[in-house]
Amino acid sequence: MSPPSLIETHPNLSGTAPVALSYELFPPRSPKAAESLWTTIGELEATDPDYVSVTYGASGSNRDTAVELINRLLLETTLRPLAHLTCVGNTPQELAEIIGELLDHGVRGILALRGDQPKDGGEQAKGSLRYAQDLIELIRRVEQRRSALLCAGKVAVGVAAYPTKHPESPSEAHDIEVLLAKQRSGADFAITQVFFRTEQYADLITRARRAGVTIPIVPGVMPLTSVRRLKRLGELTGVEPVPELLEQLASADTEAERLRIGVRATVDLANAALDAGAPGLHLYTFNEHAHALEVLDKLALPRPARSISRLNAIARRQVLAS
Ligand code: FAD
Repeated sequence: MSPPSLIETHPNLSGTAPVALSYELFPPRSPKAAESLWTTIGELEATDPDYVSVTYGASGSNRDTAVELINRLLLETTLRPLAHLTCVGNTPQELAEIIGELLDHGVRGILALRGDQPKDGGEQAKGSLRYAQDLIELIRRVEQRRSALLCAGKVAVGVAAYPTKHPESPSEAHDIEVLLAKQRSGADFAITQVFFRTEQYADLITRARRAGVTIPIVPGVMPLTSVRRLKRLGELTGVEPVPELLEQLASADTEAERLRIGVRATVDLANAALDAGAPGLHLYTFNEHAHALEVLDKLALPRPARSISRLNAIARRQVLAS
């Protein structure tokens, strides 16, 4: 047996690894929504997340507002954006242009998604990419053509993972095969769809690792504080909310009591994922900071030590934003 390598025994590689922190935002749909979003961005920035993801409408329905938000994040804040990109309804040529535009603006992280099929059940547009896997391959090709421009930072490509079966998929085993195929095509990490039961993230990790998925799988967690939002998300994603929690939230006597119940349930969900080895936590904010920050406050995540100059830059931004 060979002795442990110097890398394996290096003292700095032992101990608790820092946990990544990220938030999801969506491009605002009105000037009023933009104003409130920028208040939220200021509050979230103060927590020094590793990145914030910006959603993208299927078929590029909000391309301009998404690119504008990403640009402003890059130019006016200390935040690093992760740009979502969907391929449904767009040709490879159109997508290559968007990818090029994002890279030119300074984006170095893209979440490659298929996007939801049109509600009318119509066929995919002719010439449109079929699966997220195809989009990953396209991103890697665009990246390759610009490799000399990307010497100071390659593109990190993320994908979606599903703790409960994707609504169009025949089985959870098929979902894992798809995740493995996305990894083979060049995905660096995955973020999960929402899930509402504490065991679901650990189960996904067990299935994924057994099948050979090695990339980090970051749990996507939403604050479980609103009955209306939980039901709506359940309908949109096909993920069933927990009936007992819905009941408890609905029967809370006061707003403060409802918040306490919802935050407790979210913290339990996040802690279960962290106990199962989650490398990070991605909070679905719905462009609101208060409940996400309540959850964060109760979690005490081990976060990386930042340099004084970075902390000063964030503090300066807070002054400018106020
Ligand atoms: P895919 O991985 O392509 O999978 C789609 C379906 O096709 C699945 O049923 C899968 O099993 C099947 N499949 C995939 N590859 C193959 C194959 N090779 N052979 C056979 N079957 C296959 N939607 C948006 O519109 N905008 C967003 O910004 C957005 N952000 C999201 C962020 C996260 C973290 C998550 C989890 C979802 C997000 N979504 C977003 C929703 C997502 O677009 C939908 O869940 C969509 O239905 C599937 O996207 P996907 O990338 O998982 O697709």
